[in-house]
Amino acid sequence: MNFRRERFAATFLDPRQAFAAVETPLEVRWDPLTGASCRLLPAGSVPSPERHDLQALAEQTRPTCPFCSERLETETPRFPSQIAAAGRIRRGEAVLFPNLVPYAKWSSVSVYSPGRHCIPIEELTPQLLADNLATQVEFARAATAHDRSSSWISINANHLPPSGSSIFHPHLQGSASPVASTMQRLLADAPLKEYVSAERDGERHIATGASVEWIASFAPIGPAEIRGFVSDAPLVTEFDDETVEEVADGISRILRVYAELGYESFNLALSGSLVRLVARAYYGSLARSDAMWSERLHWEAATDLAPERVAALARMRFA
Ligand SMILES: [Zn+2]
Repeated sequence: MNFRRERFAATFLDPRQAFAAVETPLEVRWDPLTGASCRLLPAGSVPSPERHDLQALAEQTRPTCPFCSERLETETPRFPSQIAAAGRIRRGEAVLFPNLVPYAKWSSVSVYSPGRHCIPIEELTPQLLADNLATQVEFARAATAHDRSSSWISINANHLPPSGSSIFHPHLQGSASPVASTMQRLLADAPLKEYVSAERDGERHIATGASVEWIASFAPIGPAEIRGFVSDAPLVTEFDDETVEEVADGISRILRVYAELGYESFNLALSGSLVRLVARAYYGSLARSDAMWSERLHWEAATDLAPERVAALARMRFA
């Protein structure tokens, strides 16, 4: 397993220091699983995440929200009986139904709770996450049982702006597709076990549970990428309730770390036996996007959050 990293120094004459010559360090790393590179900048290079007035956004979006209790039954679609006998899948407070805008042959949306229009990331409890993930596991099983060709499964989240969510009300999105996404293709034959062995007990290791090992990504795809490796089930469709609960508990702890770092938003992707999370934000007073030319066109994240620092913070949350 090759954890390749190269350090460079950028040199310029700094107007803030009477044009004295300064050297700024930076590091390029390559992800051993995907080959994707990232650029690590010195801490403090990027402005802090800009805070949203979540309550104001909640009030603005609540009156027409299709995922709130008053409208969910009449405004969200239902699955044919082959996928869900009752049209929708329920577990605890969570409700799953088809995505009105399908991104895959089988495409679902599952709200954590029709009664909870606004859930800040630090309030996503293990119970809310476990129940919602469980609806997605049930959906994945039903979709693949009904349509065996749609075997590429993922469970995903855009949580609150600026993660890409078009509906404010917090939810997950599931996908069962006959074809893999780019990342599913890249990770399909990746040496996950070797990666975990190489990172175990290292400075990016966060926690080892009964079924899941959590590790801060060596070469993150975005701010504070953390990965969970599920050891006892190779596919989401094989996750039992205990595994779902452990994954949910880990995600909840990671989201508290993100909140501690000033983030209010995240993306999640669970595919195969790999859970990946990344923090999302608008930065500074211009509300700059966290994706610029580097991320969009070079497929290379630039972040000033060192994975080793993220892991140290997360270890405290898992302790
Ligand atoms: Zn709502």
